[in-house]
Amino acid sequence: MSIQQEIARRRTFAIISHPDAGKTTLTEKLLLFGGAIQVAGAVKSNKIKKTATSDFMEIEKQRGISVATSVMTFEYNDLKINILDTPGHKDFAEDTYRTLTAVDSVILVIDCVKGVEEQTERLMEVCRMRDTPVMIFVNKMDREGKNPFDLLDELEEKLNIRVRPLAWPVNMGQNFKGVYSLIDQKLNFFKVNKTRLEDDVLEIDINTPVLDEKVGQRDADQLREDVELIEGVYDAFDREAYLNGKLAPVFFGSAVNNFGVKELLDAFCSLSPEPVGRPTDKRPVTPDEKRFTGFVFKIHANLDPRHRDRIAFLRICSGKFERGKFYHHTRLDKDVRFSSPFSFMADAKAVMDEGFPGDVVGLYDTGNFKIGDTLTEGEDLQFQGIPSFSPEIFKELINLDPMKSKQLDKGIEQLTDEGVAQLFTLQPGNRKIVGTVGELQFEVIQYRLENEYGAKCRWVPMNYTKATWITAENPVKLTEFIRLKGNQIGYDKDKNPVFLAESDWILRMNSQNNPDIQFHQTSEFK
Ligand code: GDP
Repeated sequence: MSIQQEIARRRTFAIISHPDAGKTTLTEKLLLFGGAIQVAGAVKSNKIKKTATSDFMEIEKQRGISVATSVMTFEYNDLKINILDTPGHKDFAEDTYRTLTAVDSVILVIDCVKGVEEQTERLMEVCRMRDTPVMIFVNKMDREGKNPFDLLDELEEKLNIRVRPLAWPVNMGQNFKGVYSLIDQKLNFFKVNKTRLEDDVLEIDINTPVLDEKVGQRDADQLREDVELIEGVYDAFDREAYLNGKLAPVFFGSAVNNFGVKELLDAFCSLSPEPVGRPTDKRPVTPDEKRFTGFVFKIHANLDPRHRDRIAFLRICSGKFERGKFYHHTRLDKDVRFSSPFSFMADAKAVMDEGFPGDVVGLYDTGNFKIGDTLTEGEDLQFQGIPSFSPEIFKELINLDPMKSKQLDKGIEQLTDEGVAQLFTLQPGNRKIVGTVGELQFEVIQYRLENEYGAKCRWVPMNYTKATWITAENPVKLTEFIRLKGNQIGYDKDKNPVFLAESDWILRMNSQNNPDIQFHQTSEFK
């Protein structure tokens, strides 16, 4: 197979949702269709149910699960599909944001009872930053949910994207009869807990009495009315608009009952994009380029705490990746090679001899990688779009064992390379301020520092709620501002100055009063 054919048959995407909407359930059903797993229940929920006193075993388990299910690859209809898992827990949102830089499209799962939830909105904002194509699956139609038209309005309004239903439910909850495909005019009859993978589908002209026979007169009339309304109100589905991230096709179903999932998967296979190019600091890279490029979007600590090595997840962007070949690590300006890179087929990790754009390679790493690092065949470029976001919770890291300060330094350095949290240094005194988006990370860090690095620490909460990266066209102005703001200035790991603000209001005032200074919400700015 040529590289072009290899690229054309790959689909790399993420399923995103507010926790409990059904992401895990849907993932599992998709894997069943792909034959990647044989039985239901094989995909473990990658989430932490936080209790009052957090359970460290749970964190450990979580880490185990999230390596195993970080990338799930399966074949379906000659396509090679890579699902990149994203943690649902809000405290790990940044991990999710970064994973979204490595996909070419997403499927967003909505709970039809709850509609658009908080986490859904935030995730969609990230998708919009890169115009990632989005497909929406409205789940749990076996429950009494919101009116589907109201839901569509809510999606458009809250997610700031146009929607276009490509399927339509016939009633819902107890009276849920099925879903009518607006693509090929077929009616798929709902059955509870479908075990067979084939659906009970009837090609039907809904304007004939057959429909009344099948679903009853009331639901038949309602469906006819709804379809007429849809065709009247919504433009025909525009695939270009979907690929540009401007229009989201909407499907309905019930993941737990394996209903509507095959329609979704088939539509995904025919509509979703092949691997797309990515911007770098020098030039855009397209997948069909001869030479290999890729970037690291996730780093995972080894499960065995006695071994410090880690697993770096690399998304291949162009060319062909080959085992054992030397590649150029552009940030460190050195050549590296991997003797046992692996892929994520089904349950087992398999050695990967070659990989193509869209694929994710697992690389054993002894501390060379940071999130966002780029590998090439020699060209000096760096992939863009893997920003750090402003953290929201800040604590000072206090060393409790002076004999172990080296271990602590190394530990916090490596954990923040993994992207668990961000590290800022405050002068004078080299004070270490750790910023996260969730409380849970502090527990994870403290636990891991102790278990993996033998260092003990405690946390002192800081009043900051925002970290913004600062720049100025005139370097003198920047130096002056830094001098003036004293203990509100920290430095990130790349020694970029950061303004730490106690509140949005303080940030706003400083931004207004210092027009020469630019305040950036993410670490990546032009
Ligand atoms: P996640 O947090 O988004 O991964 O959600 P899960 O897949 O773990 O699902 C959350 C809960 O919703 C579980 O108890 C599922 O069994 C349930 N669930 C998933 N899909 C459906 C569905 O279609 N109908 C109903 N009634 N429940 C569902």
